[in-house]
Amino acid sequence: MKLAHGLAVRPSQIDGRGCFATVFFPKGGKIAEYTGERISRAEVARRAGGRRKLRICAINSYWSLDGSRGGNGTHYINHSCAPNSYMRITHGHILFMALTDIRPGEEITLDYVTTLHSNDKRCHCKAPTCRGTINKQ
Ligand SMILES: [Zn+2]
Repeated sequence: MKLAHGLAVRPSQIDGRGCFATVFFPKGGKIAEYTGERISRAEVARRAGGRRKLRICAINSYWSLDGSRGGNGTHYINHSCAPNSYMRITHGHILFMALTDIRPGEEITLDYVTTLHSNDKRCHCKAPTCRGTINKQ
């Protein structure tokens, strides 16, 4: 796996492995672009059926990127109800942006809002404001 600049993949307190900063990312700045294999809606449905962990990120209602093939570390970004990044989709590119200042060693997290998981999938992000589930209902 070729990691994007400033990122490392390490064991996470939240879930499995996570994506960590190795450099300082200032609030409002770009962290990295999400990379992966470009797949159609039908292929997303097919892949979602057989896997416990999904690394699929939608660009629009038809196309998605599957970071499990060709991902650069951003596909390990875990969900948190109190995230330090957000996603910006622009011209077919998915960018992770810093919501707060992110220091080296900090895990990068994102509020997934909606996922292919069922709505009752529990969240273990440990944030004081944790809503209890990964999907926002
Ligand atoms: Zn949570």
